[in-house]
Amino acid sequence: MPAAPRKPVRRANPPAPRTPATKPGLTKRHPGWKTFLTLLEKKVNFRKMRNGNMTWTCDGKLTFTRQILRTRFPGVSIEKTVKYLQDRGGYCDCEVLMNVDPR
Ligand SMILES: [Zn+2]
Repeated sequence: MPAAPRKPVRRANPPAPRTPATKPGLTKRHPGWKTFLTLLEKKVNFRKMRNGNMTWTCDGKLTFTRQILRTRFPGVSIEKTVKYLQDRGGYCDCEVLMNVDPR
């Protein structure tokens, strides 16, 4: 019995990516910028100690920044954002708050 004719394999056009291949970085012009800063502030948690000195949580890297970008901003490029922040003096989480967008 002859083999059933093979169905032609449909070559669909590759699906359009849901996010563009080149994701933008998170910048001050991004609508989520303020949200990002608010989330980062909660993590870094600047606070005054009993002796009046300020203290906060920072491991000297962009750990919280990367974490927030990964979980809350899937549409932005982490690497581009890191570069943007570092260009403005934000080499760690607390520096982003103090140098990149000081209030
Ligand atoms: Zn820091």
